[in-house]
Amino acid sequence: MSFINDFLEKMKPAQKVQHVTCKKCSHEETAYNLYKNFYVCTECGYHFRLGARDRIELTFDKNSFHELFTGLTAKNFLEFPSYSEKLEKARATTKEEDAVVCGIANVGGTECAVFVMDSRFMMASMGSVVGEKITRTFEYATEHGLPVVGFTASGGARMQEGVISLMQMAKVSGAVKNHSDAGLLYITVLTDPTTGGVTASFAMQGDVILAEPKALVGFAGRRVVEQTTKSELPSNFQSAEFLLDHGFVDAIVPRSELRDTLAELLSIHKKK
Ligand SMILES: [Zn+2]
Repeated sequence: MSFINDFLEKMKPAQKVQHVTCKKCSHEETAYNLYKNFYVCTECGYHFRLGARDRIELTFDKNSFHELFTGLTAKNFLEFPSYSEKLEKARATTKEEDAVVCGIANVGGTECAVFVMDSRFMMASMGSVVGEKITRTFEYATEHGLPVVGFTASGGARMQEGVISLMQMAKVSGAVKNHSDAGLLYITVLTDPTTGGVTASFAMQGDVILAEPKALVGFAGRRVVEQTTKSELPSNFQSAEFLLDHGFVDAIVPRSELRDTLAELLSIHKKK
């Protein structure tokens, strides 16, 4: 667990003692203890949402991540009201250019191409930049014979970009298909929440689909499905556990075991 210690060492003293309240059970603990437990509530097991950089640090081998495809930023080409302001605000609060961070990294010594979506950036909605960066990640992986590990999180397509956001589903899917045709492995990790067009495309196209416990995964929202089908839905509808029971997910992996699970899967599928 040395990597978690490295992570903890980077915390500033003021951060360490800061109190964080669990959204699910209201349990209070210090940020230090929460980080030590992979940002999972020690009381109820709630998996706090993680920004892309924290996720990368918690998952991949130390200093192995090299970021690719930076410098792409969204434009308000439809002049959608208040979109420019929302983008500016999201960039300022997250310090990210858009809702996904891509690159190459190692897990347990195996190199892979990675994309990590960041729900703090406009609910990781999928617009032209998200689609382009993920497409390039797959193209890079295909060219270099690398597996892809992708962490999904999304509120769906970015409506401020209209049909351009919807076409990202097809664009990324095309790149996923080429990667698959080259005989390469694609692992998705569904994190809370993975919904809308992302679920309807690349989140569900992994050869192996993992999910974090209790992650919300679905296409349309619960209320919409209820109204359309005029039926009452089970309480655990659209949870990772429900999807596992119905064959949409291969395994639910607690965050503390994710790194080892990925390392094992990648090593089993490593080309000799
Ligand atoms: Zn809790």
